[in-house]
Amino acid sequence: MLYNNLSSYLKGTYGQRLKKICIDGHFTCPNRDGRCGKGGCIFCGERGAGEHIEERASIREQVEAGLNSNPDSLFIAYFQNFTNTYADIQTLKSRYDEALFDERIRVLSIGTRPDCINEDIASLIASYKTRCDVWVELGLQTASDTTAELINRGYKSEVFTEAVRILNKYSIPVVSHMMIGLPSEDDGDIHRTVEFLNSHKLFGLKIHSVYVMKGTRLARLYDEGKYVPITFDDYVRLATYVITHVNPDLILHRITGDCPDGMLAAPEWNKDKNAVICAIQAKLKHDGLYQGIYFK
Ligand code: SF4
Repeated sequence: MLYNNLSSYLKGTYGQRLKKICIDGHFTCPNRDGRCGKGGCIFCGERGAGEHIEERASIREQVEAGLNSNPDSLFIAYFQNFTNTYADIQTLKSRYDEALFDERIRVLSIGTRPDCINEDIASLIASYKTRCDVWVELGLQTASDTTAELINRGYKSEVFTEAVRILNKYSIPVVSHMMIGLPSEDDGDIHRTVEFLNSHKLFGLKIHSVYVMKGTRLARLYDEGKYVPITFDDYVRLATYVITHVNPDLILHRITGDCPDGMLAAPEWNKDKNAVICAIQAKLKHDGLYQGIYFK
């Protein structure tokens, strides 16, 4: 196998590919409401990474719709929009509970920020392990604190290290996100982010290509000529670098980004996700490479 892709992992673990139900848990984000920042990360849309999810439906309604669309499947309940651990413990519990009413849900996956993880939250999330598997997704994007400031991430990379430490302590699998093509980043930044990720105990990685979504602060920079999106060839080259240098045990949940329909401003190549995946796989095959071949 060229790399540990999520779908093979799911088939091996659950006997089939689980369908993902993307949930808007009606949270907000401390990087938008002023607790740690305003305006959010520069690439983030108004719906906080969940532009495709129907607005205003209750959590139960969203999950029911997902279950009904594939009645014979097993599922991942994925709290995606905004920061899904940004509330008091009782609120968090009631929202996670609301999603977990059906036995076909085998994984509770929670997307959040590292500065919204603490012992109490980790303990609550760990308590669901008696019901199903749990994963926590942390949006690191880059190990560089300089880039983090530029993209208005709102926390330093050491905060990620501390969140992973807490989640490791509660044996909660962590999936990190990283981005290729962030403003001002070069090959060296990608190399250092990989090195940083390799120094943590992680379960999975999502590799995203940076795309410019309409209405974001990145779109404004792009319109003003202050941001130039990464080219297809450079993305394929750098994604191949990441795959070949990360821990061979990591599950790669995705190897490119995927802009919601009708929201893409640039680059054009981002519209064809399959072409990107095929090009990365072809390069790996052609060069005799595979995940972790250069992992130290
Ligand atoms: S932390 Fe997530 S939800 Fe908040 S602004 Fe950044 S990308 Fe958007």
